Amino acid sequence: MKTVLVTGGSGFIGANFILKARHDHWFNVVNLDKLTYASNPHTLDAVAGDPGYCFCRGDISDSQQVKALLDKHQPEAVINFAAESHVDRSILRPEAFIQTNILGTFRLLESCKIYWEHLPPEKQANFRFLHISTDEVFGSLGPDDPAFREETPYAPNSPYSASKASSDHLVRSYHHTYGLPILTTNCSNNYGPYQFPEKLIPLMILNAREGQPLPIYGDGQNIRDWLYVEDHCEAIWLVLQRGRLGESYNVGGNNEVTNLEVVQQICARLNQLSPKENFDYASLVTFVKDRPGHDRRYAIDSTKIQRELGWVPQESFESGLSKTIQWYLDHPDWIEQVRSGAYQAWIQQNYDHA
Ligand code: NAD
Repeated sequence: MKTVLVTGGSGFIGANFILKARHDHWFNVVNLDKLTYASNPHTLDAVAGDPGYCFCRGDISDSQQVKALLDKHQPEAVINFAAESHVDRSILRPEAFIQTNILGTFRLLESCKIYWEHLPPEKQANFRFLHISTDEVFGSLGPDDPAFREETPYAPNSPYSASKASSDHLVRSYHHTYGLPILTTNCSNNYGPYQFPEKLIPLMILNAREGQPLPIYGDGQNIRDWLYVEDHCEAIWLVLQRGRLGESYNVGGNNEVTNLEVVQQICARLNQLSPKENFDYASLVTFVKDRPGHDRRYAIDSTKIQRELGWVPQESFESGLSKTIQWYLDHPDWIEQVRSGAYQAWIQQNYDHA
């Protein structure tokens, strides 16, 4: 594989994936990203001068732009990370989620289908469309329910998960109906460097550092299955190379932790890594009104990807969390860019008036 078109590569997981792909020489990358509020282009500074990396600001819904990129770069694969990804935002303003996650994925699929249909037969056989999705499409588990398997019926509960479920179905249908060589991954909650601080772990680290309240929804007993982002990137790379066409793969860390425990663990580590005299970060914990329709428990059964592709997560939750906290402590510039929105001025300067 020489060149891969990565969409949404300036966001949290996409950027981690691109940095790893270029560092480990997996393939050349063309990154198509709309640069929404969730992306900080400086995250990818390390590959800015890399001849194997190319950035294009744009929208997966823009069929002409996607066609031009496909024709120009002739990628052997497309990996679709592009999405609106924050559940709370989907509850307040669902429309952007419908636009990008459903309509955008549809348009991207359609552009890729046309491109793929015109490839010579040997290239057609090797082409892959890999769609990155979430475990949230499966809905909420009770305390004793078995973990989500690939066959678990979809039951999305938020506008975010409903829009991702729709996109998964569209992707599946393009394989079933047109034969497009697709793959899908459904992954649990990721954490690690470069995550926008509206998500639980970075929000809590940054609020704690600033002495701000640590808001926890409801009783804090909602359970998520946490996976370190690098382990997710390895899983994506394996699925891209050896996943069975038309199949979906569940990816999870086997780390079921309540939100309250996550925050308590962050506070305990900060007490060691960044101690303040006579102060326990846990004193900042504040319970707030629950998120509407808040799913109680997610858990992922990753047996299929482990058995078929030999994927095993390398990072324990304890070590991954320590690395993540240390990363946020060590990168005040990145945090400042995101918090102040300074990078948005940079985007305007570099792109909007170009
Ligand atoms: P993110 O919000 O950090 O990044 C999304 C990126 O997509 C941003 O760079 C944004 O600018 C870009 N984007 C948005 N709309 C676009 C459009 N119309 N065209 C082109 N680019 C667009 O999200 P993330 O956490 O990196 O998630 C990436 C993917 O992985 C998403 O599809 C998400 O559903 C999925 N996922 C995320 C998690 C998680 O825990 N973060 C877990 C499982 C799956």
